[in-house]
Amino acid sequence: MDHFISEEQQMIVDIARQITDERIIPQRAELDEKHEFPRAILEEMAQADLFAIPIPEAYGGFGGSCLDIVLALEQFGRGCIGIGTAFAASSLGIYPILIGGSEELKQKYLPDVASGSKFAAFGLTEANAGSDASGIRTTAVADGDEWVLNGTKQWITNGGEADFYTVVAMTDKSKGARGASVFVVEATDPGFTCGPKEIKMGIRASSTTELIFKDCRIPKDRIIGRKGTGFITVMKTLDSSRPGIAALGVGLAQGALDMAASYAKQREQFDKPIIGFQAIQHMLADMATQLEAARCLTYAAARHIDAHPRDMSKVSSMCKVHATDVAMRVTTDAVQVMGGYGYMCEYPAEKMMRDAKILQIYEGTNQVQRNVIGQELNKEYNR
Ligand SMILES: Cc1cc2nc3c(=O)[nH]c(=O)nc-3n(C[C@H](O)[C@H](O)[C@H](O)COP(=O)(O)OP(=O)(O)OC[C@H]3O[C@@H](n4cnc5c(N)ncnc54)[C@H](O)[C@@H]3O)c2cc1C
Repeated sequence: MDHFISEEQQMIVDIARQITDERIIPQRAELDEKHEFPRAILEEMAQADLFAIPIPEAYGGFGGSCLDIVLALEQFGRGCIGIGTAFAASSLGIYPILIGGSEELKQKYLPDVASGSKFAAFGLTEANAGSDASGIRTTAVADGDEWVLNGTKQWITNGGEADFYTVVAMTDKSKGARGASVFVVEATDPGFTCGPKEIKMGIRASSTTELIFKDCRIPKDRIIGRKGTGFITVMKTLDSSRPGIAALGVGLAQGALDMAASYAKQREQFDKPIIGFQAIQHMLADMATQLEAARCLTYAAARHIDAHPRDMSKVSSMCKVHATDVAMRVTTDAVQVMGGYGYMCEYPAEKMMRDAKILQIYEGTNQVQRNVIGQELNKEYNR
């Protein structure tokens, strides 16, 4: 289908496609097996200026749109969502600064991310605070010219690899949801360390660790926005980034469909290619149809967000839920089309299916996204 993207957007697709075909696809199995962070590939993405997409021109970026970043992530997702997640998590880490950061913080951190010389990460989740982010226990206490952070973040993408982290901490527990603030913590700040890499089911090329703060002292001006505005910044951050997760799902589903269809053309049983069996054709037809619907919704949501940046929650959640549920179904069906070969690690289908699962969990589970959509509908129908 023609999605009427601009010439500049087609250039983003072409560059991201080339990196995916030439660098990601040939290396994805080895990086997955070794749980290895894809630093060289990320550096290549940086050289191609892809980290600059979401950053305004004033800070060395392109000032690109939500659709621009979606198009790049779709290509990376087609190759490997572990590598795509490492790229996306750096953007996630800078959104709080873009949304609520002072001019000084923007000048200090954004140009280095745009040039690719620094990576970022975003730390919200804790052992007792997943879907219910209001349960976070990490604290930040003012002490003279500094903030002192204590607590532990869990399962943070790019942990141990990022140069700086945007971290949510309670500045006034008595104020509940209005008692959180977001801070920039640099990897070299005293009192800050990362835990060992988690061993995961999928997206093994991405690094996932704890962030540990033990009397971690940072300068006073590293607070993002006003004290107490942390959860508003968090919600806007996740609303901005979820179409990118949807795009990883669209790309992953495309990669799985491509593989299943070409396998079905060359695999023969009962003296004919299995693509000749109607049962296989129907599976491929459903995979292709669901995929195209997910792509249409993701692009439409991104365009809506570009046009109406203050009204993004519902469409952002809708595209995340739909595209990632489709990615799970399509990758599972790709394994089925390939039979026992699909189940073997020799083929990428099993990795795609393992990888797909995380898309339904991180950046807010799909159950929680349905809650968000339901709550928005409840408001709309009460007007
Ligand atoms: C590989 C990986 C990378 C991650 N990267 C990051 C990162 O970079 N930064 C970060 O801050 N976090 C990160 N996370 C954390 C991720 O966002 C959380 O895992 C996710 O938000 C869910 O929280 P939880 O795992 O604690 O599940 P829980 O909140 O304990 O949920 C368990 C189950 O209960 C359901 N549930 C919970 N509440 C409700 C409700 N109200 N209604 C309906 N169902 C509900 C959930 O949908 C889920 O099925 C990452 C997680 C993983 C696994």
